[in-house]
Amino acid sequence: MQALIKTPNVKELIIQDVALPEPAPGEALIKVGYCGVCGSDLHAYHHAPGYEFVEMPRILGHELVGTVVSALGQDSGNWLNKKVVAESIQHCGTCAQCQEQRTNICEHTQVMGLHFDGGMAEYVKCKLKYLKEIPANLPDAIAVLTEPMTIAVHAVETVGQVKNGDAVLVQGPGIIGFFVALVCKALGAKVRLSGLKRDYKARLSLAQDFGIETFTVDEGENLREQVDILFECSGSSRAVNPGLQSLKKGGKAVFVALYESSTDLFLTQAVRNEWALLTSYGSKPEDYTRAFEILDMFSSQLESLVSLYELNNAKNAFEDAMEQKVLKPVLVL
Ligand SMILES: [Zn+2]
Ligand SMILES: [Zn+2]
Repeated sequence: MQALIKTPNVKELIIQDVALPEPAPGEALIKVGYCGVCGSDLHAYHHAPGYEFVEMPRILGHELVGTVVSALGQDSGNWLNKKVVAESIQHCGTCAQCQEQRTNICEHTQVMGLHFDGGMAEYVKCKLKYLKEIPANLPDAIAVLTEPMTIAVHAVETVGQVKNGDAVLVQGPGIIGFFVALVCKALGAKVRLSGLKRDYKARLSLAQDFGIETFTVDEGENLREQVDILFECSGSSRAVNPGLQSLKKGGKAVFVALYESSTDLFLTQAVRNEWALLTSYGSKPEDYTRAFEILDMFSSQLESLVSLYELNNAKNAFEDAMEQKVLKPVLVL
């Protein structure tokens, strides 16, 4: 099969013929239709700090949609020919966090496409227990957005516990910020999405089409918004303090982005305001069901967020994403 290989060289991707993965009992072989390029794939692509653990050569990608073409072991027959996505975070099931159903922060987390080969190939294998069947009415080009939507569902519903009527500021109009704003909107919150002026054309204007109020800021600008909840999805350490200034006393901030540098916080202000500083990482199995619901709610509009790239054009998908020219690059396998 053909696969996109991230070599040990920075930003080097090559297309290679490799052996078909051989599923073991309890695993399926999936013919991949689409695979989204995620922020974590980009971090691995340019060898960002915090991604030293990714052994290369590696087939990246966890945001895949595909069809099960073979499966082995108990109940495997039920999966044949099913359209599926895969949970990106695979967990051990036995550590303290897993026993509390916090599988997203398992001690032995394995992420598809980073710890082992992923979906940027014609075929991928995956354990049956991590497969999620796509609802029949959801087109593949929208189902490919499931995993990033689960990240937003986890951040907004489980961590942020956003309620109807809450005033919410979302910083950073990348796909995660966009989806966080969308889930807040679905819950009846008053949500605004902010980005830099250069984000307007490719990103913020799309959010307006979904009825999300947007505004632009200068880098490091203080906002004075006075919201109940801030979602920091920009990943820019320069945006952290200005974002916090927009919180009401007693408000909460949820950090969803991953940062490439550290941030200085003057905690006295946070203490005096009794701000809750929360973090949200990844998603859990049940978030996939909710993600399907939200994707279905907005399905007529979501295709506009996806930019498709043929495999032999994959390098451009990564570069366009790095330059923030597109919201969600997706490889067509
Ligand atoms: Zn992802
Ligand atoms: Zn575990």
